[in-house]
Amino acid sequence: MTTAIWWLRRDLRLADNQALLQAAERADKIIPLFILDPALLNSKYVGPKRISFLFANLRELDLNLRSKGSRLILRQGDPLQILNEIVTESGAQAIYAETDYSPYARKRDERISRSLPIHLVGSPCVFPPEFVLKPDGTPYKTFTPFCKTWKSLPDPGKPLPAPSQLVTPESIASLEIPIPAYNEMPMVFQPGEAAAHLHLERFTIGFEAPIGHYDEDRNILALEGTSGLSPYLRFGILSARQAVHGCRLAISNAGTVDARNSAETWLNELIWREFFISILYYFPHARQESFQEKMRYIPWHNDPLTFDAWKHGKTGFPVVDAGMRQLIKTGWMHNRARMITASFLTKHLLIDWRWGEMFFMQHLIDGDPASNNGGWQWTAGTGVDAAPYFRVFNPITQGEKFDSDGVYIRRWVPELKEVPTEYIHQPWSMPEWAQDKYNCRIGRDYPFPIVDHATARQLALDTFSMAQKAK
Ligand SMILES: Cc1cc2nc3c(=O)[nH]c(=O)nc-3n(C[C@H](O)[C@H](O)[C@H](O)COP(=O)(O)OP(=O)(O)OC[C@H]3O[C@@H](n4cnc5c(N)ncnc54)[C@H](O)[C@@H]3O)c2cc1C
Repeated sequence: MTTAIWWLRRDLRLADNQALLQAAERADKIIPLFILDPALLNSKYVGPKRISFLFANLRELDLNLRSKGSRLILRQGDPLQILNEIVTESGAQAIYAETDYSPYARKRDERISRSLPIHLVGSPCVFPPEFVLKPDGTPYKTFTPFCKTWKSLPDPGKPLPAPSQLVTPESIASLEIPIPAYNEMPMVFQPGEAAAHLHLERFTIGFEAPIGHYDEDRNILALEGTSGLSPYLRFGILSARQAVHGCRLAISNAGTVDARNSAETWLNELIWREFFISILYYFPHARQESFQEKMRYIPWHNDPLTFDAWKHGKTGFPVVDAGMRQLIKTGWMHNRARMITASFLTKHLLIDWRWGEMFFMQHLIDGDPASNNGGWQWTAGTGVDAAPYFRVFNPITQGEKFDSDGVYIRRWVPELKEVPTEYIHQPWSMPEWAQDKYNCRIGRDYPFPIVDHATARQLALDTFSMAQKAK
């Protein structure tokens, strides 16, 4: 009898799991193992919301495994030590795991491969970074040609089914899977593979499916116009191939040109995810410092007081505050709001993008080193494919454009609930009688803006431009 360890990391699913299928093909007995790694659990980039989502998903995964005759083995400790222990306890001959491209994961797996027979199979991308290169074999630094090459690669085919049955040795002990501590998770992010697939189907299947309106709706802050799949993709509860397969079906079934174009736009977003994975893989320095060297010398102000106001959604700019409060309350934030809040922090407040990056990681359920780093550096204008540094999002007109009736703002900033739409994006412009009438005294119920937009914008332009020249 042969035994293999199936070591799960960020592929918490049974279907379309190449590492699991290979382990099941090659061994009679499988030990599905998840290791709570203290280096990750105690990292300053981790917070209770994402950990709770992880635990909730481990519990679901255990139930699914039990329905196949197996169960999840949970251990805590240094991965190399735990794997050695399980190999000794079970006599396992091999370890199968999905490739993980983050800088930490690569070092960890490298270390393990020096002493244990670990096979890295499959990847969190449809096409691993090594597949999407320039003709001369070097990596892309801009999205558009990366996307073109990605799309020219052969169709990855249909997602693979889950194994029907799994046998796991009785003798291997497991910790109890912790009960998630954080209870305020929005109901839309139900844990588990079935929930992820329902989400994908709701978004992609049917004549009126949101994917067909994605182009129009994706930026409207108050709508559920995006898929909401990021937490599932983050933990591999849904594979990238499953998402792309759903998207390609929607493209081929689209009833109108607009619907097809919208579905194509959504495919591009899935490719952005793979682009940022590739960037961090080939340019790991971006994790610590600005990707562009000339942007490493910005004299950030890093004022703890304005940082605090931003973190708590108390900047006095309603659309910024709404985004930050959505994040704090739910662990998720609309993409448009991520761009607006990140731009405000780095440009209006001149606070180092790394401060914002870490705060997002501490709160986002979908917090992912590559996408988060890529999103922050893109917005700050320090990264690849940079939005030029002189693009400064105007928090007033962004609100007017993407939340014209103030529905999103009133949902997340209750102090502004009664404020009429004509004042909702600039509540400080309300005359005193209106502040009393609408129960929102500026300076008492809701803050004055912490900066003047025009002055802050000019200061940001001057600071970034000087830093660039100083290099
Ligand atoms: C400052 C900043 C920080 C971000 N941090 C993260 C993060 O930690 N984790 C994360 O998954 N995304 C991050 N994003 C990207 C994006 O905001 C989210 O992926 C998106 O809001 C998730 O919602 P959705 O699943 O409904 O997306 P949809 O619009 O439905 O897109 C589908 C999928 O494509 C991927 N995707 C979409 N946009 C991007 C993008 N710009 N970059 C990379 N992948 C993308 C995601 O996996 C997403 O689930 C960040 C963006 C910014 C500007």
